[in-house]
Amino acid sequence: MIKSDLLKNMKGYIGGQWKASGDQTFDVYNPATGQVIAKAPSMPAEDVKAAIESGQSALKLTKPYAIETRRQWLEQIRDALKANREEIGRILCMEHGKPLNEAQGEVDYAAGFFDYFSKTIGELNSRTLEEKPKDCTWTVHYRPVGVVGLITPWNFPIGMIAKKLSAALAAGCPSVIKPASETPLTMIALFTIIDEEVDLPDGMVNLVMGKASVIGKVLCEHPDVPMLSFTGSTEVGRKLIEDTTEHVKKLALELGGNAPYIIFEDADLDKAADNLIANKFRGGGQTCVCANRIFVHEKVMDSFSQKLADRVNKMTVGDGINGDVDIGPLINKAGFNKVKDHLEDALDKGATLVAGTRPDDLPSDTLFFPPTVVSGIKRDMACFREETFGPLVPMVSFSSEEEAVEMGNDTEFGLASYLFTADEERAMRVAGALRFGHVGWNTGTGPTPEAPFGGMKASGIGREGGLEGLFEFVEPQTVPRGF
Ligand code: ADP
Repeated sequence: MIKSDLLKNMKGYIGGQWKASGDQTFDVYNPATGQVIAKAPSMPAEDVKAAIESGQSALKLTKPYAIETRRQWLEQIRDALKANREEIGRILCMEHGKPLNEAQGEVDYAAGFFDYFSKTIGELNSRTLEEKPKDCTWTVHYRPVGVVGLITPWNFPIGMIAKKLSAALAAGCPSVIKPASETPLTMIALFTIIDEEVDLPDGMVNLVMGKASVIGKVLCEHPDVPMLSFTGSTEVGRKLIEDTTEHVKKLALELGGNAPYIIFEDADLDKAADNLIANKFRGGGQTCVCANRIFVHEKVMDSFSQKLADRVNKMTVGDGINGDVDIGPLINKAGFNKVKDHLEDALDKGATLVAGTRPDDLPSDTLFFPPTVVSGIKRDMACFREETFGPLVPMVSFSSEEEAVEMGNDTEFGLASYLFTADEERAMRVAGALRFGHVGWNTGTGPTPEAPFGGMKASGIGREGGLEGLFEFVEPQTVPRGF
């Protein structure tokens, strides 16, 4: 079992108290060893309702929390995260599996959101229009939406919640947080530092965990939760849209991706290869911004394949806690089998193995999947159509800009995309044509707190980060004053 001062309370957090009704628990695993490292509480619907009620009591509408007070909350959480980055990173590493330095880097990334909104929160001050239409003075106030439900996946156990919670607190919204059942410990650790080091009013942040169906149902149906912010699969996102229609809830959804990574014939191939390694293998390939389909111009396919294979052959796979590995284990057997199935399907349909492993050579008793590159990918293969969510790099050859754009857009998703070219005009033309919320030009970098991030099409609704992410959590209220 995992031991940590930040995990003294293996409970949820409601109204400023550690709490979990009943005695139901679920197992939390270390994916690197397969061992159970904790038993977390599976909280009943009554706890979720209590969390919403305590949130409601912390919501101040007639006398809102001052901007300066909200700024202090954000700064205190930022500082507490920085002070505890090593221990939170260790806990994150043990329940997720990503390498320790990556896990600790994720804590820094999370702190960055609290920092950014602490500096930009002044944007939420009310503003009075200079014009006086209809003989009135017009003031716009930014009211908190209300108690918000924040539901997050396992692939960034602290990063994903930081994006939502920082903006919610900046706006003055109390929240009910539900982490993924694979990674609840990082969230318990966060609540421990909030409990001990941050001056939040009771009920401003609440933590519930357990069965997604039980918790999701209460959050969707409760009239006092006017907004849900969710990151996860498109399948669950669609269910949340359906389940919230009765109350017409506000939704911020960051859903699946199927990122194209396009390498034109004039690209700097070393840069394209280095960026692909950093982008694709982050979190073991289990992120929604990881390149999923690599389109390479036919004239440079051979030399790019060689450069990529050279790099991939040097990568190491192992338990992330050892600190010196590039890739940790995949999160669970279902995730492992999906990557294996995609590899098998591609090879069966005629793809060529460029580097890495054949399906038959994969270990059967661990979740470690070696980085693997295949070429000759066609549209009918599963790895083209679906998000693989693992360390498989499928390469597709193309011969013209139009073909690359058309194939890149040939997906229901529209989250992240990347293009590598030395030609600025082409870059702008292609970026405009790609229906994706994020287009990296000569970089494989993902989101940052300072810029909006989110998806088009079935990749979601709304943005996180940037001022756009801040304004998701407020309702502009217009007050014309007559004389
Ligand atoms: P992933 O494939 O990344 O696990 P999911 O969409 O399955 O993505 O899960 C993301 C988050 O949504 C997790 O916290 C999960 O427990 C939660 N979740 C799953 N089903 C529901 C549901 N019906 N209502 C609310 N939350 C759900």
